[in-house]
Amino acid sequence: MSCLMNVARSIFCAVALAGPMISASPGVAAEPDYATHLQALQKTVPKGFTITLQKPFVVIGDEIPSLVRQRSTNTVKWAVEMLKKDYFSRAPDEIIDVWLFQNKASYEKYTKSLFDDKPDTPFGYYSPTHHALIMNISTGGGTLVHEIVHPFMRANFPQCPAWFNEGMGSLYEQAGEENGHIHGYPNWRLPALQKAIQRGDVPPFETMMRTSDSQFYGRTSIGTQYSHHYAQARYLCYYLQQNGLLTTFYREFTANVKSDPSGVETLKSVLKATDLKTFQKEWESFVLKLKLD
Ligand SMILES: [Zn+2]
Repeated sequence: MSCLMNVARSIFCAVALAGPMISASPGVAAEPDYATHLQALQKTVPKGFTITLQKPFVVIGDEIPSLVRQRSTNTVKWAVEMLKKDYFSRAPDEIIDVWLFQNKASYEKYTKSLFDDKPDTPFGYYSPTHHALIMNISTGGGTLVHEIVHPFMRANFPQCPAWFNEGMGSLYEQAGEENGHIHGYPNWRLPALQKAIQRGDVPPFETMMRTSDSQFYGRTSIGTQYSHHYAQARYLCYYLQQNGLLTTFYREFTANVKSDPSGVETLKSVLKATDLKTFQKEWESFVLKLKLD
């Protein structure tokens, strides 16, 4: 787990770089042993929590039971169905617990006592080490959908670079359904990105897409530009979505990742662009015209 807080309401919910990667070898994996896992949870989960099975997740929350079940169905089940429909054929091989803490106090208390974590985001994070999505659900369901993307991406596209993993997670942190498909909408990451574009402070796509995961998450210095990476990646995904190219890009990128680990060549191919400089100008004017509802 690692999440860095930036100024204002930015979240950088980074996916931990360590931990075992799941192979994406073809074939149907055996279903995890949910019954044994649930039995173990009954013994360890603190009193006052509701536990509901929502495969491949187990949702555990300390809000009133009806609300925990509602979130399990309306957010977790919905997001899983939508994401599987458009992107992810493979479920995570492991059982992942979704902890929904009812407020800041509960979130801070239990991240310490259950996981010995001290989160640097007030919203939530994905911890591959603990096989868990850990959320302060009082901040809203958007971060939960964002985090649900990560274990699915890990299972289906283990070579996925951070920029695309976070671009997709961020896209769906403000999402609804259109024509039976998940759809991301402009959100709070927009104004800072628009200001950065106006200042000429957004790096070329090649630079952003070729960052290592450590660089993307700001664990190594590449200057101050990384603070816009999440928004830049999100609104690149948003642009692709709006032009009907996002599912194509995902499919082709997963197929091409060995020869094109950054996605730069795949992006050019999907956009039918010879270079990304011209595209970036078009994308910047597209982003500058976007408005928050
Ligand atoms: Zn994330």
